[in-house]
Amino acid sequence: MRIPRIYTADEQLQVGTMVTLDREASNHLSRVLRLRVGSEVVLFNGDGHDYQGKIEAIERNQVQVHLLQAQEINVESPLYIHLYQGVSRGDKMDLTLQKGVELGIKEFTPIITERCGVKLDEKRWAKKIQHWEKVIISACEQCGRNQIPKLNPVTPLSEAISKRSGQDFFLHPDAETQFKSYGAVNFEQSISLWVGPEGGFSEPEVDEVTRNDITPVALGPRVLRTETAALAAVSVINSVWGDF
Ligand code: SAM
Repeated sequence: MRIPRIYTADEQLQVGTMVTLDREASNHLSRVLRLRVGSEVVLFNGDGHDYQGKIEAIERNQVQVHLLQAQEINVESPLYIHLYQGVSRGDKMDLTLQKGVELGIKEFTPIITERCGVKLDEKRWAKKIQHWEKVIISACEQCGRNQIPKLNPVTPLSEAISKRSGQDFFLHPDAETQFKSYGAVNFEQSISLWVGPEGGFSEPEVDEVTRNDITPVALGPRVLRTETAALAAVSVINSVWGDF
């Protein structure tokens, strides 16, 4: 069996010490995976290292791990890709975040647009963000990343545009430019992708985005689902300028 990788929010992990995992991680290891004392696990906290350890104790559903070795591992993309994603419904957003992490995205900003189908109060947005954070962590556990991508607060489109920095591409089916016809990118800057929700951007939003010098780019003449568009664009960027 593959050695399980588990995220821990412990800010400092030190070889030779013992770490007590939180309830969720403990439950996953002891009840779901049915690991026992002596089993190997890998912990990471986002500091760029993987910490190999052994389960030392399982008591009252709390798993204690003895850290035996630390290894600096870098599986990060050479590109800093920032996805501004129009919030989409249900598990589409989860899918975009999960696959986006696997493909190497370093920053996510969920954006609220006119045709955004998800409308929540502050409390429920906070819960959504917590849920998305878990999706991101679990994707990191699975794909081997030990630097956790940043998840920004849910932001209205205009506010996100005013704060943007980097080289920005706006995914738009009607655009005349394609990635293959675009010149070189500046690796010093982040590459930002702006993707509409299920219903796309409204006309005024398209005007606003283009007025702000965000380059419109098309991914062929077919209309892709929002989650397909984001993931296809990240794959293209990685293959032209990144590590694919
Ligand atoms: N009828 C909507 C429109 O025309 O915008 C379709 C929206 S599409 C389902 C959702 C988002 O995916 C779009 O706002 C755009 O960002 C992106 N998208 C879909 N197909 C695309 C394509 N062929 N090229 C570039 N972006 C695309």
